[in-house]
Amino acid sequence: MNLKELYQEIILDHGKNPRNLKKIENFNNDATGHNPLCGDKVHIYLNINNNNKVEDISFEGSGCAISMASASIMTDLVKGKDETEVKEIISDFLDMIKEKPELSSKNINEEDKTKLMCLSGVKKYPMRVKCATLSWHTLTSAINNSKDEINTEKMDT
Ligand code: ZN
Repeated sequence: MNLKELYQEIILDHGKNPRNLKKIENFNNDATGHNPLCGDKVHIYLNINNNNKVEDISFEGSGCAISMASASIMTDLVKGKDETEVKEIISDFLDMIKEKPELSSKNINEEDKTKLMCLSGVKKYPMRVKCATLSWHTLTSAINNSKDEINTEKMDT
């Protein structure tokens, strides 16, 4: 299996069987996001504990395989990390999906880097970039607990 096939395999797997697709009961932050170009919608639920650590995270939503896979991989990856690490990972991911060839965050292990790199294929399709970034922008909004819905049409990526 070459790298491209591996990447497609991982996206299909997460797209078909998204992890953390539910509403957790004990969330203390949440946010919604919408990508009108593709019709993707996501609602992120976040439980941040007293040590600023992501105790639990889940999402509800509907949309294309890329948006679902991205939310699934993201929620799996940030669980158990602290807020500062999560913010650093978000900006690393957004840089990668925009222009950088690789991820550079020390807060992501190699296995998780491979999963995130699966999404790098969207760089060739500018319209799909927003599918991949929707849940990440929405996570930022959830962390900041801002109540405005994220709309990818009002953002650069
Ligand atoms: Zn989409």
